[in-house]
Amino acid sequence: MSSSSPLRIVLASRNRKKTREVSEILLPHGFEVVPVTDYTDVPEVVEDGTTFAENAAKKAAQTARHLGQWVIGEDSGLMVDALGGAPGIYSARYSGEDATDERNNQKLLAELLNVPDEKRGAGYLCSVALSDPSGVIRAACEGTCRGRILRDAHGAGGFGYDPYFLVPEYHRTFGLLSATVKHRISHRAKAFSRFTPLLLALRDQFLPQS
Ligand code: IMP
Repeated sequence: MSSSSPLRIVLASRNRKKTREVSEILLPHGFEVVPVTDYTDVPEVVEDGTTFAENAAKKAAQTARHLGQWVIGEDSGLMVDALGGAPGIYSARYSGEDATDERNNQKLLAELLNVPDEKRGAGYLCSVALSDPSGVIRAACEGTCRGRILRDAHGAGGFGYDPYFLVPEYHRTFGLLSATVKHRISHRAKAFSRFTPLLLALRDQFLPQS
């Protein structure tokens, strides 16, 4: 827990619910997350990497160079065993151009319709990268979280696939678990628990920029 006033750091994400989760995870460590949407002229990053790590690094580096600031990039998604790891890096746009969480979930359920309960295992993965203002990646970490895809929605917490993602140890979906619990056990929580010490070690280098 930090006693001084929070240090602002930009997150290169346009997903409001994800940004809120990252903010809640980093605030106790003394960082205030500034969403990239607070800036008006930042070009959208084309997520054409072949891995979560590539996309996280690209979001961080491109946005950092544009703003001339330290930036965190985060890329995450759901990998379903029975679908060979799909939707994976395409999780946000699984149902196409006009994807919404609702449509993505309907597509996921349809793809898994004939898959028996014991074969519905899945994992979330979160990849985080920190870029310095020149676009050099100075830290990168990943975290994963295993679960199972249910046939019906349970709860409205979290976002994305959470109402269908059962966390076996808790007998509840991320849609039902509180934010406090999700921020302890999720893929994002695990990635940031590795990432935060690296961020804190570089903290002094942010100061001249702020
Ligand atoms: P990104 O913003 O390009 O990284 O895409 C993230 C997508 O992965 C989201 O739109 C969701 O579909 C999915 N996703 C990632 N993390 C979570 C999570 O914590 N809960 C539910 N869905 C998630």
